[in-house]
Amino acid sequence: MILLDGNKLSTIIRKEISDRVRDFCKTDTRPPHLAAILIGDNPASQSYVKNKIKACEEVGYASTLIKKPLHTTESELLDIVQRLNENKEIDGYIVQLPLPRHIDEMKINLAIDPSKDVDGFHPNNFGRMALGITAYHPATPAGIMMMFDRYQISTEGKHCVVLGRSNIVGTPISLLMSKKTKPGNATVTIAHSRTENLKEICLSADIIIAALGIPFFVKADMVKPNAVIIDVGINKIEDASNPRGYRLVGDVDFEQVKNKVSAITPVPGGVGPMTITALIENTWKAYSKIYNNN
Ligand code: NAD
Repeated sequence: MILLDGNKLSTIIRKEISDRVRDFCKTDTRPPHLAAILIGDNPASQSYVKNKIKACEEVGYASTLIKKPLHTTESELLDIVQRLNENKEIDGYIVQLPLPRHIDEMKINLAIDPSKDVDGFHPNNFGRMALGITAYHPATPAGIMMMFDRYQISTEGKHCVVLGRSNIVGTPISLLMSKKTKPGNATVTIAHSRTENLKEICLSADIIIAALGIPFFVKADMVKPNAVIIDVGINKIEDASNPRGYRLVGDVDFEQVKNKVSAITPVPGGVGPMTITALIENTWKAYSKIYNNN
């Protein structure tokens, strides 16, 4: 069994990116600059944003964190977005989700300049991705594709079952896996909460990408021998033996499944770090676009 180690792979790719930054910024060229907007004090969001900013600094990017209180209004957030759109020193930015309920996420998403939308959630980028035109791909699916590429996992002609149809993971990874690309070229089934005969469908999968948000959902009896398992889930479960009182687990029952499969991502340390690496790569694209005009 190959452990698809997102930490190890991210270290390699981020080193390549930091070399690129160092070489490109030898003169007086400024480094790439990513900004992140964080509204409220959701601990998970704070931790995600902190990790993204830290990763930027490690590769030599500039970063800006715009932190606003929970009661920030929709129009205040739209103003911040507008200012970032106009700021020539910022190449790309993200609005950390989820937003408080009183803010319409789609309205904010639509206000982001697509050329700075390094999360790839704007319909312009999403549509371009669907059509196979150059675009920013959402970071988690992009990170998974990088993983297939670097670990040389064959996806062509394989049956890939995606569990979950969210706009940020399930739907975009289904699209990317079905495209005539390498990696890609898979036969994709997208399963969701209303899917019938899910166990049978999973048993016919060469590749399972689990993105449901249900701890330990994928069990050994749902998995074909030698399948490849990508576990996107990040779930908090109680754990009295852990000083924090909880631990993070995936959507796959790793201990049950690991000896049956040919490759599997751990949680934590699998898709999570690859998501941040893909965001950093997207920011590089936003930055180099300014210089290369492509
Ligand atoms: P979501 O809650 O938006 O969507 C969950 C999806 O699972 C839905 O489409 C739903 O139809 C499907 N689903 C629910 N129950 C099901 C069932 N019994 N059978 C089949 N499908 C079912 O989720 P999301 O935002 O895509 O996130 C999914 C998980 O991935 C969460 O644990 C989240 O924390 C994690 N996540 C991780 C990363 C990362 O970087 N590793 C990034 C994004 C999300």
